[in-house]
Amino acid sequence: MKKLAAIALATLSFCAVSSVQAADYPTKPISIVVPFAAGGPTDRVARDLAEALRKQFGGVSILVDNVAGAGSSIGSAKVARAAPDGYTLLLNHIAMSTMPGLVRNLPFKVESDFEYLGIVNDVPMTLIAKPTMAANNFAELQTWITANKGKINLGNAGVGSASHLCGLLFQSALASDMTPVPYKGTAPAIADLIGGQIDLLCDQTTNTTGQIEGKKVKAYAVTTAKRLTTPALKDLPTMQEAGVKGFEVTIWHGLYAPKGTPADVLTKVNTALKAAMKDPEFIKKQEGLGAVVTTDKRVEPAEHKKFVAAEIAKWTPIIKAAGVYAD
Ligand code: ASP
Repeated sequence: MKKLAAIALATLSFCAVSSVQAADYPTKPISIVVPFAAGGPTDRVARDLAEALRKQFGGVSILVDNVAGAGSSIGSAKVARAAPDGYTLLLNHIAMSTMPGLVRNLPFKVESDFEYLGIVNDVPMTLIAKPTMAANNFAELQTWITANKGKINLGNAGVGSASHLCGLLFQSALASDMTPVPYKGTAPAIADLIGGQIDLLCDQTTNTTGQIEGKKVKAYAVTTAKRLTTPALKDLPTMQEAGVKGFEVTIWHGLYAPKGTPADVLTKVNTALKAAMKDPEFIKKQEGLGAVVTTDKRVEPAEHKKFVAAEIAKWTPIIKAAGVYAD
């Protein structure tokens, strides 16, 4: 009996401490896990967002923790298992909806191991090549791909990543078979593309715009349904205009917390997130890289969750129909 009373008292005081902590949240630095390498597109969004969130949280530090590898499943698993106290968050992209279709034995459940905090932005992708690529347009690139069958290296950020998905759909549409070269993110992949160690890469405009502008890589198409308005990208055809029927991929990023994070902490983060996404500086930085900051209902946690479920339902059959289910 005494033991039970002691447990009850301990539980009560733990709850009291937790709710006091929740009321004061945040009282210490918050870490945003980026499941890809530093310097890449997801990292870029996270660092811009961290700065905007810091202003909302009265200057509390927001640290970006790059836990890269395995197409984002290592970093995502770290957050799924982290203490649910609001001090460890995850910023991940479309991989949250493609990993269930592309990765067998995923070490977490996208639908039930996370709290959803809101979609942050939508980002187009571009198909780019090493700077020494002779092809000057998409048709010439297609001819080069046919002529170099069996010799082409295509970079990606691991199984389940956006570049992996885009590359697989591209190969499937062209009925071509390229050698995948996985990296811990597309920052190291684009560095190798610039150096000519790999031939092709499909990557978000948040990573490629500056490289295209600086003529460090060659660009052939955008993956969105419409052409982009960003000056460096506006002359690129869409994949569909270039003749790849039905090809459309847009990457989105969302913020997550471990399942079980107190509701009032989640509300505070979502409120700060929505305010951060209205920060003109954040919007300007994102727009300059071709990203569109979310203004629709997906900024609400319940809508974010619905959207991810719909994306899983959308991508899984496409991935399977394309025969690209990975082991
Ligand atoms: N763009 C990468 C991808 O292909 C991820 C990254 O490095 O941020 O998913």
